[in-house]
Formats: sequence, structure tokens, C-alpha cells
Amino acid sequence: MLDQPAAPRRVLVTGGAGYIGSHVLHALTDAGIPAVTIDNLSTGRRAAVPESVPLVEGDVGSADLLDRVIRAHDVDAVMHFAGSIVVPESVEKPLAYYRNNTVSSLTLLDACARFGIDKVVFSSTAAVYGATDRVPIDEDTPTAPINPYGASKLMTERMLRDAEPAHGLRSVILRYFNVAGADPAGRTGQATPTATHLIKVACQALLGRRPALSIFGTDYPTPDGTCIRDYIHVSDLAEAHVLALLHLRGGGESLTLNCGYGRGASVLEVVRTLEAVSGETVPATFADRRPGDPPQLVAGADRIRERLGWVPKHDRLDEIVRNALAWERSLPG
Ligand code: UDP
Repeated sequence: MLDQPAAPRRVLVTGGAGYIGSHVLHALTDAGIPAVTIDNLSTGRRAAVPESVPLVEGDVGSADLLDRVIRAHDVDAVMHFAGSIVVPESVEKPLAYYRNNTVSSLTLLDACARFGIDKVVFSSTAAVYGATDRVPIDEDTPTAPINPYGASKLMTERMLRDAEPAHGLRSVILRYFNVAGADPAGRTGQATPTATHLIKVACQALLGRRPALSIFGTDYPTPDGTCIRDYIHVSDLAEAHVLALLHLRGGGESLTLNCGYGRGASVLEVVRTLEAVSGETVPATFADRRPGDPPQLVAGADRIRERLGWVPKHDRLDEIVRNALAWERSLPG
């Protein structure tokens, strides 16, 4: 009798019902890569998870739950999205951030070590760089987070690096710049109504679902006085995760990579682009600077292209805001 070909092993995606995790689940599904997700649905939505992906409702900080899922689904790799992501909240509740981000990551990495799972793709953040003046910010910029959110993520980066020699655990650490937009096919998007991110808030204001957008600070040392950020389309980011997984499955070495385009846009450019694609006016008022906002954050973004062969497909600001607006319109008002 001929042997049956072995079923492909699954990647465990934590936080797959959330904004970025759900885009990655769709990208994995599109690529024919089997996945399973754990999400406690605290901010995520069941509907964001593709139908073909098993969703286990629960907390990634539970070692028992992790053991059960890893055993049941023949997991060989992990992508870790679950966590808390709001910077001002991290200042108010630092211990909650260390628990949800750092301690839960420790529980997850411990499970990886116990089960011999040796591949992790980790969602980190440009917040690990803190208030740097470097433009662009490459991966060799010293890390110096200025809030508990950035510190909680940097601690997990450190655990990953220490776990490699001890447990053979290889990782791709992805440091996100400003993630925005939505799946061009409309399957998922940013669904948290209270999200504070510029493009989300501007779309809500345009649709009359919020009062006017406040433009935080007009006296920054930038060409138009408003802050500059490197906005990356969430579908390009999702593709980078798939490539990172394939890199690790192919035996590739551990990497730390910025995720951005290496190009910045100001708050006013974002607002004007949204007005141009919609033909409508964004109600906006000028406001004081928001504490803690650096004038300019742009990724040094060469390494991810070189090391993963990543070629962004959606790297136009007008596409990012068009997809974000279409998604926002599709949500119940
Ligand atoms: N911003 C703004 N109004 C808002 C939200 C954001 O002017 O309602 C500005 C913010 O000051 C920053 C940029 O938009 O300069 C991006 O902010 P966001 O919160 O989206 O991301 P961050 O860079 O803080 O991670």
C-alpha cells in the first residue's frame, strides 16, 4: 500500500480575529497554508476569521489551552499577534501591558520550547526605537522605548533572542510602522470603533461617525508643520508575514526587520488624499500637539526587501485610504 502524503503542519496564529491577525489569516489561506487561531475575542471578531481556519476562543496566556491546541493541530510554527496595543493606555496600566504582552509571550515561548516548535514570527513595533531623531530609522538604531507598550514588546524580542541558543527557536521579529488600510477584497479591516489611528479616525469623521478629526500639532519641524509617518498597507504587511514564515520553514536564520515603505506622509497629506479619493471634505480642526508624538517616523525599509524578497503591491497612499474608507463604509454606522 502506498503511504499517504503527510498532511501539512499548521501555523498557530494568536490574535487571528484582530485587525492584523485576520489579514494574515486570509493571506495564509490564499497561499494554501493551514492555520489555527487562538483569540479571546476581547477586541477581535469571529467574523474576521476565514471559515476554513479553526478558531479556539481563549487566552494565549493559558498554558493548558496552548498545550491542547498545539497537540490537537500538529503545530510547527507560531505567529504571535495577540496583545494590547494602545500607547496611552499602556502608560495608565503598565502592568496590564506587561501581563498581556510580555508574560503571555513568555507562556507562549515556553510552550514552543516544550513542544519543540522552533519557528516564531513576532509582531513587534517601531515603538521599540523610542524618540529617535534618525531619519530613516534602520534596524540598527538603538532601541530605547519611551512607554510601557514599546518596552513590553522589546522584552519579548529579547526573550526570543535568548531562546534561540538555548532552545533552537528561530524567529522573525517584524517591527511595524503605521499599519493602515483594509483588505482590498473587503473581507476584513480595522473594526474597533474606538481606534485612535489617524486614517481610521479620518474615515469615521468623513462618514459623520465621529465629530471632526483633530489634527494634533501644526508647528512641527516638517514641511507642512504636521507629523510624518510611514503608513504601510495591512495587506502588504500580511504578505510579509507569509514570507517570514516561509523563510523560517525553509531553514532561514533569525531576522529583525522593519515593516514600512521607507517613505513618509504628513497628517495633512493623508487628509488631502482621503478627500481626493472620496470627493468629500474631512471635517477637521487644528489642535495642540499630542504628548509623546515624534515629528517624523520613517522606516529604513531595505532589509525586509533584501532578506524576504518582499515586494509591496499596495504601497500608494491613495490605495491605503481608499481601502480604509471602503471598509469603514461597510461597517454598520
Ligand atoms: N493624528 C492626528 N489626529 C488623530 C490621530 C492621529 O492628528 O485623531 C496624528 C498623530 O498625531 C500622528 C499621526 O497622526 O502624528 C499618526 O498617529 P497614529 O495614532 O495613527 O499612529 P502613531 O504614529 O501614534 O502610532
